[in-house]
Amino acid sequence: MRTDERAMAYGGGWLDRSGGRRADPDWVAARLAAAGTVLLPLWRDRCLVTAERTPVRLSAPDSAAVLAAADETVFLGLDGEVAVFAVDLSGRGEQEAAGLVGAASTVDVRAIFTGLGPAEAAIQGYARGLLHWHRQQRHCGSCGTRTVTTFGGHARTCDACDRLLFPRIEPAVIVLVEAPGSPDRCLLARHRGAAEGSYSTLAGFVEVGESLEDAVRREVAEEAGVVVGDVAYQGSQAWPFPAGLMVGFRATAVSDRIAVDGEELLEARWFTRDELRERAAGGRPLGRVDSIDHQLLTGWLAGGR
Ligand SMILES: [Zn+2]
Repeated sequence: MRTDERAMAYGGGWLDRSGGRRADPDWVAARLAAAGTVLLPLWRDRCLVTAERTPVRLSAPDSAAVLAAADETVFLGLDGEVAVFAVDLSGRGEQEAAGLVGAASTVDVRAIFTGLGPAEAAIQGYARGLLHWHRQQRHCGSCGTRTVTTFGGHARTCDACDRLLFPRIEPAVIVLVEAPGSPDRCLLARHRGAAEGSYSTLAGFVEVGESLEDAVRREVAEEAGVVVGDVAYQGSQAWPFPAGLMVGFRATAVSDRIAVDGEELLEARWFTRDELRERAAGGRPLGRVDSIDHQLLTGWLAGGR
C-alpha cells in the first residue's frame, strides 16, 4: 500500500490551511473580500453542481447575496495565492439554494468522485465535514448557550462558559487480517445489510481508553471471533461522511478459526489472492474505489509472495 497520502481519496493536503493566520479575523475578512477568492457553496452535506455535475465555484467578491444567505462561511485555505472559502446554504430550501448559486442540482460528493480530480474531491469533502460540524455545534454542550464561529471557521466559542470547541473527528480502524501459515489468505466479511456475496474488510470505531491497535484487536475478536497477533499501520484516510478518520492496518491472526457474531457480521471467510482476483474479474469490485478498504485489498493483492 502506498503511504503517499495523495494515493487516498479525500486527502492530500491540497490547500495551505494557514493555521496561524486564520486566527486573525481581519486577515480572514481581507481574504474573503480579495479579488479572485473562490467560494464553494454546499447544501446539507451535498455539493451544489452544474448540469454537468461539476461543483459550482463562485467569485467571492461578486457573491454578496450568497454570503448574506449563508448560515456559515468558513475559510478552507489558500490554493497558491487564491483563498478558498466554503459557504453553507443548508438553512435554505434545496431549490432556493441551487437558484442562488446557479446550480442545477445537489449531489453527494461520493457519487461524483470518479468525475472529479483528486484535489477537488478532497476539498469538497473537507468543506462538507467542516460545515457539518458547525451545524451540529451551534450550542454549547455544557451550558446550552449559542456558540460563535472563530478562527476562520475552525473553532467555535461559548462566551457564557468560555469554552473553545474544535471540529470533532471520529477515528475508526479498518483492518486487513491475514491468516497464519500458507497459502496466503485474508479475512473478509459480509456485514449486516450488505448484499449476498458482498465482502469487505473489518472496521469499527475506536472507543474511549483504547489505542488504535487495541481497537483492531477488539473489533476483529468481537465481530469475527479471530484472535490477532501483530498489527501494523498501513495508512489513513479522511472520511468526512460525516466526521470519520479511517486508520488502516494489516494484522496477522494467530489461528484461522472464525466465529462470527451474527450481529454486525453475517459471515466471514478466508480468501486467497486467486479467489480475490477471480471475484474482481467476475465484476465483484474490491471495495468502493474511493475507499481505504479498496487500497488495503489491492495492496495485499499486489504483494503476493
Ligand atoms: Zn457554554
